[in-house]
Amino acid sequence: PVTNKDILHWLQRSTQVLHENNAFLTQLDSAIGDADHGSNMDRGFSAVITKISGMQEADIGTLLKTVGTTLVSTVGGASGPLYGTAFLRAGMATAGKQHLEGAEIVAMFEAAVEGIKARGKAQAGEKTMLDAFIPALEAGKQAQLEQVPVTELLQRMAGSAESGMKATIDLLATKGRASYLGERSIGHQDPGATSSWLILQALADTVA
Ligand code: ADP
Ligand code: MG
Ligand code: MG
Repeated sequence: PVTNKDILHWLQRSTQVLHENNAFLTQLDSAIGDADHGSNMDRGFSAVITKISGMQEADIGTLLKTVGTTLVSTVGGASGPLYGTAFLRAGMATAGKQHLEGAEIVAMFEAAVEGIKARGKAQAGEKTMLDAFIPALEAGKQAQLEQVPVTELLQRMAGSAESGMKATIDLLATKGRASYLGERSIGHQDPGATSSWLILQALADTVA
């Protein structure tokens, strides 16, 4: 199972990875947006780390809800409320839990994806973070049906997020700033799908 300590380590690793990829994410956003996605995510997660530093004993739901409120108040733009809602919903789905089995992990991501969809009025194929999250969720559901160990479930989720992220290159953006470019959004990888993959990969790497 995934413990509350694993979740803390995941958040720390995510903060580090997003910091290391600040320039890369901003470069992606400069092509089809306003060149701030890297700094938005770096700022948001460094605030998260400060907020959760004293929360070693907190349950997973409390941790994730704290991440959500911190991201909403520090990230801004489109991604702040979207990631904020994702973590808030993930926190509601894991309220009071000290560890998660495969089915609970899938339920947590299902809640996060539903939150992103509701908040952003987007669906699969619109060249957003959902194009990493939705394939990851589907892979997680399939892995759960096959009763694979949690480590492998998370690896499959991260692998599908990565494929989904790469597939955003060929998509036409119909939501967010990139949609202002119309056809010119095609040929560029979506920054939000890229940060989503980084965060999911960080979870797989933490639990591996
Ligand atoms: P902003 O566009 O306000 O500058 P960011 O650059 O931080 O915000 O985030 C941009 C990312 O947000 C996009 O790459 C995309 O993945 C995601 N995004 C934008 N709008 C939506 C939406 N309606 N639903 C889901 N994701 C979205
Ligand atoms: Mg931006
Ligand atoms: Mg912006």
